[in-house]
Amino acid sequence: MKNEKITTCNICGATVRKAHEVLFKGLTGLGDWQEEVAICDSCGFIFAANPFMDDVLADRYKNLSKYEFDSGDYQIGADVPYMKRCKRQFDFILENVDSFDSILEVGAASGYNLSLYKDEQKIGHSVAVMGIEPSGVNCKLAQKNYDIQLFNGLFSEYIDKNSSQKFDLIFFSHVLEHIVNPRDFIEQCKTINNKYIFIEVPTFDYKFENEFLGMFSDEHINYFTFESLSNLMNSCGYTIVEAEMPLGIQVKIAAGVPALVTLWVLADEQHNLYLQTCQ
Ligand SMILES: [Zn+2]
Repeated sequence: MKNEKITTCNICGATVRKAHEVLFKGLTGLGDWQEEVAICDSCGFIFAANPFMDDVLADRYKNLSKYEFDSGDYQIGADVPYMKRCKRQFDFILENVDSFDSILEVGAASGYNLSLYKDEQKIGHSVAVMGIEPSGVNCKLAQKNYDIQLFNGLFSEYIDKNSSQKFDLIFFSHVLEHIVNPRDFIEQCKTINNKYIFIEVPTFDYKFENEFLGMFSDEHINYFTFESLSNLMNSCGYTIVEAEMPLGIQVKIAAGVPALVTLWVLADEQHNLYLQTCQ
């Protein structure tokens, strides 16, 4: 099994050096893996320099996914932390957006999160919801439980087939840290985005001493700080609207928290919004 080898920074393009190694034993479908954690000396971005090839990751997310919140013995009604997170993100978005008529969620799991955005009473008007989800099981559950039609596939497959429909808000929660080239990903999002991008990722800005290696995950490629995420988004033409950092003291998955909760707006759109407030 071959891994990719990244030798230049995916945010600023400078050369990178190996800073750390983490050995993962007996990963499902993948075996043992020695992760090489690299750092960019120019902008400080930290990431796995030897991620698995896209086709290996695609197979993993399509067929070995653990992100099936509503299936079988894993009932959404019982997954209180996930539902709380979705509601926290929903409130954050409603508090900070000007308006939005459509939302696209990348990595929509089994549709619970998108179902919140179908609540016309809370939002004040109807919002068109769309999601992209690699797991076929999840797509069927979204249809069955929430009457939400998801695109079954990867983001790249979606973009190839649906390049003309644009969305006011693109939403990805705990997705960007899994993407091999986050810069290409954001640039692709931009081609189908009218206004906002919501991003939640685990952050390295604050870590607990007792976690040690718990901060690393075999599924995570990018280890963002607010600075590196800002560098990425600013260089792609987005500016920050608001950000929060829940520490997640009660959350059991160390690699997922603390998290950066961020809302970005296209810089041109920000200028228009500002002019509106001056009138
Ligand atoms: Zn860099």
